[in-house]
Amino acid sequence: MGWRCGLLAVAAVCAGGLQVHAQRLPEGVTPQHYALTITPDLEAATFVGIERIDLTLTRPARTITVNAAELTFISVHAQHGAFRAQSMPATVTLDAAREQASLSFERELPAGPLTLEIAYTGKLNDKLRGFYLSKTRARSYGVTQFEATDARRAFPGFDEPALKATFNLSLVVDTGDTAISNTPLISDMPGPAPEKHTIAFATTPRMSTYLLAWLVGDFACSSGKADDVPIRVCSTPDKVGLTRFALDAAKWDLRFYNRYFGIRYPLTKLDLIAVPDFDSGAMENFGCITFRESELLVDEKNGTLPARKDVTTTVAHEIAHQWFGDLVTPTWWDNLWLNEGFATWMETKVSVQQHPTWRFEEDAALDLDHAMEDDASAGTRAIRSRADTPVQIDSMFDEIAYDKAGAVIGMVEHWVGEQAFRRGVQRYLAAHLYGNATAEDFWDTQSRVSGLPVDTVMRSFVDQPGVPLIEIDGTGPGARVSQTRFASAEHTDLPEAWTIPVCFPQSGCRILMPGAMNLDVPTAAFYANAAQKGYYRTVYSRDLLPKLIADLQGALAPAERLGLLADRWALMLAGRAPVGEVLDLAFALKSDPNPSVLENALDRLNDIASNLATGEDRDRLRAAIRRELGPVYTAMGGPSRHESYDHAEIREALFEALGNAGDAGVLVQASEISAQLFTGQKPSDPNLGDAAVALSAPHGDAVMYDRLLRVVERTSEPDLRETAQRVLTRFQSPALVARTLDYALSPRVRSQDSPLLLAMMLAHPEMQDQAWDFVRGHWEEVLRKAPPDSAGRIMAATGSFCSTAQRQSVAQFFAAHPAEGTERTLRRSLQQIDDCVRLRQMQQPLLQQWLASHPGV
Ligand SMILES: [Zn+2]
Repeated sequence: MGWRCGLLAVAAVCAGGLQVHAQRLPEGVTPQHYALTITPDLEAATFVGIERIDLTLTRPARTITVNAAELTFISVHAQHGAFRAQSMPATVTLDAAREQASLSFERELPAGPLTLEIAYTGKLNDKLRGFYLSKTRARSYGVTQFEATDARRAFPGFDEPALKATFNLSLVVDTGDTAISNTPLISDMPGPAPEKHTIAFATTPRMSTYLLAWLVGDFACSSGKADDVPIRVCSTPDKVGLTRFALDAAKWDLRFYNRYFGIRYPLTKLDLIAVPDFDSGAMENFGCITFRESELLVDEKNGTLPARKDVTTTVAHEIAHQWFGDLVTPTWWDNLWLNEGFATWMETKVSVQQHPTWRFEEDAALDLDHAMEDDASAGTRAIRSRADTPVQIDSMFDEIAYDKAGAVIGMVEHWVGEQAFRRGVQRYLAAHLYGNATAEDFWDTQSRVSGLPVDTVMRSFVDQPGVPLIEIDGTGPGARVSQTRFASAEHTDLPEAWTIPVCFPQSGCRILMPGAMNLDVPTAAFYANAAQKGYYRTVYSRDLLPKLIADLQGALAPAERLGLLADRWALMLAGRAPVGEVLDLAFALKSDPNPSVLENALDRLNDIASNLATGEDRDRLRAAIRRELGPVYTAMGGPSRHESYDHAEIREALFEALGNAGDAGVLVQASEISAQLFTGQKPSDPNLGDAAVALSAPHGDAVMYDRLLRVVERTSEPDLRETAQRVLTRFQSPALVARTLDYALSPRVRSQDSPLLLAMMLAHPEMQDQAWDFVRGHWEEVLRKAPPDSAGRIMAATGSFCSTAQRQSVAQFFAAHPAEGTERTLRRSLQQIDDCVRLRQMQQPLLQQWLASHPGV
C-alpha cells in the first residue's frame, strides 16, 4: 500500500484503482508508423484528418482500442493480408470518459501487420491543449500542445509514451500561410482545393506521440547554425526583432550538448517558436520546441537581466530534453521526473557556463530551498508516484518532479564527480536510443560507472516523500550525526530515513546511513552542505552559528550563505528556532556583496515585518530595518554611468527594502521616478524604475493605474507586458482591486495569464479577502476563462491565508466545489494556513523578546 492510499483510504484515488487502470490501452498492438494529413479551417475553428497507422497485432483481435478525445470518426478500415489487399470496415464505439474509441470488426483480424485507415474531424479548441487556436490582433494561428495526454485530441492513436512510432505529416493550409513541424519541409504543392497548398514534412525518428507538433499561420524567424544543424527562432511577424538572443543561446546549447552527451543532436533541424497563447512555459516537441512568448522573446540589448536569464534557462532546459525525454523517454508518467528533474538540473549547469556572472548557482540554491519548503508540507508526494488518469498525470508536473528531482540529481553529481556522472549519463542514453527507460535503468548505470551506491541514495530520495533534517552534535572525528524527516514541531516520529551524501566545503563527502552514527566532521567552524547541493536541512550545535556569522563571506560561498539563511528560516517556520535567529543572520547579511544573497536577506526581513509582526511590533521592526539599512544605502551613492550591474541591483534592493519599511525619503523618490516614467520623462535614476513603480503602486490612484494599463496593452515586449500586468495586482484601493479582478476575467487578458493574476491577488494580505470574495462569487467564470485544470492553481494560492476564518471558508468552498485531482493541493493549502496561524502564535512573543533585547537596532 502506498502512502497516498494509506492516508486517503476512503477517497476516490484509491477506491477507483481498478477503474483508472482501465484508462491504459490494452496490450497486443504495436504501432510502427503514422501518416497524417490534416486540413485545418482556422476561420471555422475545425479540422479534417486523414490517417493511416501501420501496426502489428501481436495476437488475433476483433477489437482494436485507440485513444481519441473530442474527435468525430467518419470512417475506419483495416487493411491486412498479403499486400494488405483485404479491407474490413470497423464500427466505432466512443468512451468519452476514458478518452478511447473501440474499433470493432466483423471478423477476427489475424496476428501480424495491419494498416488502419481513419477519416475524422475535430474542433480547434480555445483550451490551449491538443490542436488549438491562438489569436493575435492580426489573425488566428493553429498550434498544438500534446504533453501529457492530448495528442488524442488531434488524431486517434496509441497515446502512451512507450508506444513510439515514426510519423509523416502533411498539412493542407491556406495560400499565404506557412507551417512548422518536427522535421524539415520536403514538399510544398498547390491544391488539393483552390486557395490551398499542401506542405509535407520529412519522416520523424521513432518517438512518442506527445512529442509530435505542428503550427499553422504566419511566422517570421531568425536563422543560424550550430555544428551544421540549422536553427531558427520564430515568432509572429511583429516580434521577430526579439528572437536574436534566444538564437544565440540555442546555438551555444546545441554545441554544448553534442559534446556533453557524446551523441549528436538527432534531427536535421531545430526550430524554437513563440506562441501567443501558451499554457506552460515551453514544450520540448522533438525538433519543434514551442514557448510562451515571454520565455523566448527578449530584446538582446535592452531586455532586463531577469528576462534574459529566463530565456537562457528555458531554452537550455528544452534543448536538453531533445536527448533526455525525446531521444530516451520514460516508459510511463510515474517516471516523469527523469525528464523534468534532469532538464531542470541541466539548465543551471549549461547557463552557468554560458554566463558565469549571472548568478545561476544562487538561483539553483533558491530553487532547492523552494523545493524543500514544498516537500516539507503535509500534502507532498514521492518523486516517483503512481499516475494513471490524465488528471493524475497532469498533477505530476509540479515542484517535486522539477525542482526536487533536479536537486537530487545535482546532489548525486556533486558527490560522484562531474566526469563519472557524465559517463553514466552517456552510457544510459546510448543504451536506450529512440526507446524508453525507467529510474532503475538510470541509477543502475550510474552505480556501475561510478562504483558508488548511487542506486541506494537515489532510491531513498525518489521513492520516499519529504526532506531530511540532519542534526550535527559536536565537531571533529566523533561528532554525533542523526537524521529525521523535517516537519513542523507538531509532526514527529515520521518513519522516513535516507542514505545521504553529506558534503563539507574543502573536506569532501561522507555517507550518512539511516539512523544516527558518528561521522568525521571538521573541527573548526564548518558548514555541512558544500556548494548548497545537498537535499537536506541542517541543525548545528548552538555555539556554531555565531562562529559562522562572524565570518560569513570568508567561510561560505554565496549559495551556502543563501542555504544557511534558508535553513534558519525553515526551522523558524517549523517552530524549531526563534525568529531572532533569522533576524540576526539577515541583518548580518545587510552589506553582502552578492546581490542574490542580499536581496534574499532583505526579502526575509520584509516578510517578517509584513506577515509575522503586527501592530506596534511591526512599527518597531520597520524602524529597526530603516536604521540598519539606511547607512548602507547612503554609502552606495547615486547612479553613475560606470555603475556595474551588481552595484545597481544592490542599490535597487536596498531602495525597495527601505521603501517597504516606510522610509519617507525613499517613498517620495519612488513616486517621483514613477511619475517621470509614465509621463515619458527621463527618470532621475533609471535603475530604480521597476522598484519605484512597485513601491508606488500600492498607494497609486486611478490615473497611475490607467497609465500602467496602457503600457500593458500597447507594449510589444512580452517581458514588459508581464511585469506591468503584475504591478496592476499591487494597487490596493478597493475600487482598483475590483477593477483588476474584473480585468483578470476580461477578454483583454489571455487565458493563460488569468489564474496567475488572481493567484497573486489572493496571496496578498492587503487584498486577499476582496479577491477571495470575488473568486467565490465568479467561480464558474474563473474556470471558464482559465486553461483546464486551473482550479488547483487558485486553490494553491489560498495557502497564503493566515486566519482560522479564512481556513474555514476555503475548506467549505472547495468541499462544495470539488475539482478532480486537487486533493493533495487542498490538503497542502489548509496545512499552510494552519502553519501560518500557529507560527504567529508561537513566534510573536519571541519577536517581542528580540526587539526588547535589541533596543539599539
Ligand atoms: Zn521540461
